[in-house]
Amino acid sequence: MKRLMCLILVAVLLCGCGGTRAVEADYWAMDTYMHFNIWGDDAETALAQVEQLVQQLEADWSATEDNSFLSRLNRGEAAVTGEQHAFLEQTLTLSARTDGAFDPRLGQLIDCWGFLSGEYRVPDQQQIQEALAAGDWNLGAAVKGYTGQQAVQLLSRLNVDRAVLNLGGNIQTYGQKPDGIPWQIAIQSPWGGEYAGILHVTGTTSIVTSGDYQRYFDLEGVRYHHILDPRTGRPAESGLTSVTVICHDGTTADALSTALFVMGLEQGAEFWRLSDDFEAVFILSTGEIYATEGAVLSGCAYEVIAREN
Ligand code: AMP
Ligand code: MG
Repeated sequence: MKRLMCLILVAVLLCGCGGTRAVEADYWAMDTYMHFNIWGDDAETALAQVEQLVQQLEADWSATEDNSFLSRLNRGEAAVTGEQHAFLEQTLTLSARTDGAFDPRLGQLIDCWGFLSGEYRVPDQQQIQEALAAGDWNLGAAVKGYTGQQAVQLLSRLNVDRAVLNLGGNIQTYGQKPDGIPWQIAIQSPWGGEYAGILHVTGTTSIVTSGDYQRYFDLEGVRYHHILDPRTGRPAESGLTSVTVICHDGTTADALSTALFVMGLEQGAEFWRLSDDFEAVFILSTGEIYATEGAVLSGCAYEVIAREN
């Protein structure tokens, strides 16, 4: 099992506001950089427990570790019960809701492009068809959102005032800022440098971004990114470079960001009109930004997607 590494620091500060304790830590886990800020009298205990949770969920859902629950499940060696069953069921429901644009059973396909091993290649049509038919589980598109969601449940049982958990760009906020002003969450610019825009959210919220710039490889002058269209088995060509979803459920936010990326702007906007549990920001490959009317966005020019078409 890959060990969770504490990379930089665990800082314990005394915050100006009412003497609340604040802790901050950086980690490398789930193949990504994580950063946690927690405020509250039991902030240090909470941080240790969040760290333990991340470690446990990584051990369960790793697609690269032979002994993970996921690998054993794919080999038919694991009994599915309790929390794991609930998570798998939720991902199947989200897959049905998105008409398969988010598909938690692309395991072999993802491997076949080399996105698990880092040995990148372009599979031929037969390899794609065989991989799609295999139906192996891979929860990479939902597990960080799920982890944020599980962390919220944990924090709510502890003496914690508020928290911001950055799980590789998946942001999970918990609680309210003391002055009542919204959390400000920057959306990464797909082109590097300055952020693309700033989202303003209140309370416990999950803000998840899927982007073609997050993982890709170049071969013979062609760029192949990691978000696959289950209809073709190839990187989605939807005209988008990123989608950010704002939602009160982390697993839903994560699965939907992937699904909306596959759908593209038009279909994604229509999907949002038929839903009432999330908002979204779409960034096109051309640089234009579109945000659904409930998203509170600043720091950029954008078009509003209205509820009524
Ligand atoms: P995310 O960054 O949450 O959009 O997740 C992308 C990751 O999920 C990829 O690196 C793949 O491991 C996996 N994946 C790619 N395409 C899909 C898809 N259409 N549905 C579910 N998982 C996917
Ligand atoms: Mg996702």
